[in-house]
Amino acid sequence: MAIIELEGITRSYQVGKERLTVLKGITLSIEEGEFVAVMGPSGSGKSTLTQILGLLDRPTSGTYRLFGQDVSRLSDDEGAAFRSRTIGFIFQMFNLLARTSALDNVILPMIYSGAPNREERARRLLREVGLEDRLRHRPNELSGGQQQRVAVARALVNHPRILFADEPTGNLASDQASEIMERLKLLHRAGITIIMVTHEPDVAAHAERVIRIKDGRIVSDESSAGGRAGGRAATMTRTAALAPPALAGPAALNSAEFREYGASALRAMAANKVRTGLSMLGILIGVAAVIAMLAIGKGAQKAIEGRLASLGSNLLMLRPGARATHGVSHERGASSRFTLDDVKAVAKADPRIVRVEGNVSGSAQAVYGSKNANTQVTGATPLYARMRNSEPYFGRFFTEAENERQERVALLGQTVANNLFEEEDPVGKEIKVNRVNFKVIGVLPLKGAIGFRDQDDMILVPLNTAMKRALGKKYLDSIAIECDGPDSMAEVMRGVQSLMRRRHRLPPYKDDDFDLRNMADLQAALAGTTETFSTLLGIVAAISLLVGGIGIMNIMLVSVSERTREIGLRKAVGASRRAILAQFLIESTALSALGGFIGVLLGGSVSYAMSALAGWAAIVTPGAVGLAFLFSTGVGVLFGFWPARKASQLSPIEALRYE
Ligand code: ADP
Ligand code: MG
Repeated sequence: MAIIELEGITRSYQVGKERLTVLKGITLSIEEGEFVAVMGPSGSGKSTLTQILGLLDRPTSGTYRLFGQDVSRLSDDEGAAFRSRTIGFIFQMFNLLARTSALDNVILPMIYSGAPNREERARRLLREVGLEDRLRHRPNELSGGQQQRVAVARALVNHPRILFADEPTGNLASDQASEIMERLKLLHRAGITIIMVTHEPDVAAHAERVIRIKDGRIVSDESSAGGRAGGRAATMTRTAALAPPALAGPAALNSAEFREYGASALRAMAANKVRTGLSMLGILIGVAAVIAMLAIGKGAQKAIEGRLASLGSNLLMLRPGARATHGVSHERGASSRFTLDDVKAVAKADPRIVRVEGNVSGSAQAVYGSKNANTQVTGATPLYARMRNSEPYFGRFFTEAENERQERVALLGQTVANNLFEEEDPVGKEIKVNRVNFKVIGVLPLKGAIGFRDQDDMILVPLNTAMKRALGKKYLDSIAIECDGPDSMAEVMRGVQSLMRRRHRLPPYKDDDFDLRNMADLQAALAGTTETFSTLLGIVAAISLLVGGIGIMNIMLVSVSERTREIGLRKAVGASRRAILAQFLIESTALSALGGFIGVLLGGSVSYAMSALAGWAAIVTPGAVGLAFLFSTGVGVLFGFWPARKASQLSPIEALRYE
């Protein structure tokens, strides 16, 4: 019963413009349990033939039946699955995975075939080849003979029925070589079919059958009768019991495979630390940028929202206009002036006006003890507390009676309070404002800065006190008008505008001599600006992530071509396309996820540093972190896909030959 049947097998290569035919019609059959040596001069096609027999390569024409099944047209993955369950391979160059221990090298084919009790079996086989004390050694820490023994153990893990050995002793010293030969003979006696390429006659002498090839043709096929008959007899009984292996698709990815790919990704990354670091840099910076930018954008938005709310809501601000006469613009207030009568008139202009209040302001020198501060004095009525969200942080606000009596009481903004009093409690203390004594009765709530203006750098005193005593002003600098809601503001504004035009007796052809603004519009505009700002930052960050992704793709392409031999080897021991694809995808994902992780840390620290050092509000939200991390991992998958696909499509034997 023949397990290998070849009929008219040819194999030709396209070399430049010429077609080189290496195998010129090989017809051959091999029975189960045989020990065959293939001999011939170098370049005669021995390796090519064994690779076709071992399903590592495909014939150009002819049919190949293995266990009675036509395998010459199997797909890559079917071939890989079939190979991993029935065939073991031993190469002249050992072809072990570098940077991987002997034990893991032996385990690898079992991971691809999904065999159980992997480690136990690998240990047992390594013990059988006398390497139980070399389990953790890597190939470069083993002698040639030891490496070949690891390769023998690896070839046996999946219980192959056929073992191919391509010049297994070609690179070994003679004592090591005879040890390998003894092992092959033992395996033969255990019933495994062995097909061995060699050009050394004394090695071939161990076989029962010698096939000689010359120039792509079989020139002789001889059996050493005695040995062969015995082998045959043993085989006959075996083949009856053993059914040919079923053709099955590749096994689904299992968790052991994931662990192996994760470990191999880490090994590859660790082997090229500098390159790994550099290739992650793009993603890292991109993610850090996204995190920091989103944090700053969010912080700015929150800060502005908070500060705008602290200004008061539904406010209209009336200020003197800057009017130009003969092309020369005058200082504000030069052309129009507001009085307390204006305040009363405005209050009656529309029933939807809730509160109206006039303010004066001016700069002042504030002194307490030996400390002094240049600041802003604002005169206001008690309405200010409600209208401007300025209920005192501690202490109390002044009353209408105090305003009437022009009492010298003051509330301090927090900047002024800090400058003059530091740790001391300011309430109840006497300060001088423009050389006039004032009693501090409270501290205003913290408002923060808007633009370059620090809103906490101010002293609030009763309006009448400010006008008569502290600033000496006869007119108001502004009038604040609070409406009952956002919807009524536009109409109230028109009413106030026409009222003020009447009061100022402006003829229709003249422009307003005052400036009336809807603070809500200003707030919306500011909030909109920060939103645009955040979006722009986000786009810039996304572009850097894209660039980072291209960096990853580039390095993965380099990695694939650098590790072509490794890919060929993995395929030769049973890796399917999907397995290779998964391996490289996991690797690029790990690369970008690690970059993303470090980027998150970096972005978080940068945001923190900026809020701590520069005083910027930076808010890192879990959403931003998750987004950046997901995005960077996605970039890894996306940009790793092409290199991974390229790797998965390599033909095993071309990859193994790649230099
Ligand atoms: P050997 O009998 O020494 O093992 P091989 O089977 O490796 O010989 O190679 C047989 C011939 O095929 C050689 O002449 C070699 O140059 C040629 N050959 C092998 N692989 C390729 C290839 N990928 N492209 C072109 N020629 C090849
Ligand atoms: Mg060869």
